[in-house]
Amino acid sequence: MGLFNFLTKKSKKKPQKENTSINTLQKVPSSCHSDMVMLFMSGMSYADIAKKYGLSRERIRQICAKKLGREKCKEILKAKMAINRDRIKIRDRDKKNKYAKRVGLTPEEYAKGKKEYEAGKKWHPAYEACVDCGTTERPHNSKGRCSTCYGLYLYKTSARRRKQSRESQKKWYNKNKEHCAAYMRKFSKTPKQRAKQKERYWKMKEDPVVYAKHLARKRAYIKERNSRMRIEQPEKYRAMIKKSTEAAKARRHKMKRENPEKYAISLEKQRILGNKRNARIRKDPVLHAEFKRRARISSKKSQEKARLLKNKQNDL
Ligand SMILES: [Zn+2]
Repeated sequence: MGLFNFLTKKSKKKPQKENTSINTLQKVPSSCHSDMVMLFMSGMSYADIAKKYGLSRERIRQICAKKLGREKCKEILKAKMAINRDRIKIRDRDKKNKYAKRVGLTPEEYAKGKKEYEAGKKWHPAYEACVDCGTTERPHNSKGRCSTCYGLYLYKTSARRRKQSRESQKKWYNKNKEHCAAYMRKFSKTPKQRAKQKERYWKMKEDPVVYAKHLARKRAYIKERNSRMRIEQPEKYRAMIKKSTEAAKARRHKMKRENPEKYAISLEKQRILGNKRNARIRKDPVLHAEFKRRARISSKKSQEKARLLKNKQNDL
């Protein structure tokens, strides 16, 4: 019964992690120890030897200490450190030379530039000023560019960066909506800003594809904004529509007064557009039904208006 209990207990237990240093010590014969020590003396690290024999790093250190003595081990390690230090120095020097080559200078020229830079006479060891804008006021960022120009450079060359910056902009805008609105109120009306905006607009208009994209985006935005406003701020929406229709009316009257030929042409254009639209509506039964319904309502309204006018006149 005792044996049975013991077995079940053991089977329930989770498999324990093997104690590697003890288990593998038995597997590796002591004849290997001298090989390990030889490897250590030739400059291999404890960790690399341990990997090779499947032992722990600590175990290798113990074997070496036993065979060589602690003092000897320390000496070897010190010598190794010195070699490593030299190697790092050489690597750093190579790195510098590589950088000088990339910038298009010899190592001597680069060293000279660096001395001047450290003395505060030069903007950067290899550059006199920013490659793009020529400033020396902003600090150097990368590739011969100041921080501002390097950001722009990345924006121009990397699609991933463009996406990233757009997303971060959106995030920031959503976080600081009030601040953005206040900023726009303050600065969107300054003449300088307006001139700049105009210039940008005309530049964009030169490329028909870009301009078409811009128009499509604008239309989509206005549609979205209006539908939102109609629900959230109905009074403001009505006022806006009224204002815009009045402005259009005023523009038409002005044109009629000042430039009748142009007005006639625009009327003709509108007529053609209207005909096209009506043809399109007539083809679609759903749209046509809606069109008819609206026409009926508007005719009713106009009839009502006429009747009221007549009544008024009769009263007078
Ligand atoms: Zn710059």
